[in-house]
Amino acid sequence: MFYYDMTYFVFVFPALIFAIWAQARVRSAYETYSRLYSGSGRRAYEVAALLLREAGLGDVRIERIPGSLTDHYDPRSRTLRLSEGVYDSSSVAAIGIAAHEVGHAVQHAVGYAPLAIRNGLVPVAQFTSQAAFPLFIIGLFLNSGFLMDIGLLFFLGAVIFHLITLPVEYNASRRALNMLEASGYLTGSELVPVGNMLNAAALTYVAATAVALGQFLRLLMIRGRRD
Ligand SMILES: [Zn+2]
Repeated sequence: MFYYDMTYFVFVFPALIFAIWAQARVRSAYETYSRLYSGSGRRAYEVAALLLREAGLGDVRIERIPGSLTDHYDPRSRTLRLSEGVYDSSSVAAIGIAAHEVGHAVQHAVGYAPLAIRNGLVPVAQFTSQAAFPLFIIGLFLNSGFLMDIGLLFFLGAVIFHLITLPVEYNASRRALNMLEASGYLTGSELVPVGNMLNAAALTYVAATAVALGQFLRLLMIRGRRD
């Protein structure tokens, strides 16, 4: 049992601490910059609509959804969904988030490869990431190397899914900052906090990747012991 605990503390625990820290950081950045209002007075949904139109994507719908930081772009229905706290807000945080989601819509429209790959992997990744751990544990109890290997393979799939998400997220934020700068909807000094917040948000994806990788390596070590 000691070995299992040790692998947890070496591979998984530091990544979890990193993930909790990254989450706290993005929350605090969001709260701080939610109180910093844009001089233009434009609301996030208006800026999103303007940026979409400028990108030739005036037909992408914008909807308001419940929850906090639940904002996302849905490629299947070509809908940009903004959370309650973002939709009507004229804070630089809200405008930054809305522009980031527009970034995803533009990625989708131009066929940005990492996004296409990621979207293609979503259904597979949902199944494999849920099945990976149970399969491995059953394999461990039944002493079945085959089941453990399938579990590991599924875990590896989850790691790859997290990895491919990273360029998608960083690229959407870069597009957001470029669009906001070019359009002049935010001033240069307003762009700095937006950049900080989007970087903090991207770091949570790095942390999620680290957690998945840590879990994979841990199980790989445990599997290595069973040969
Ligand atoms: Zn995103």
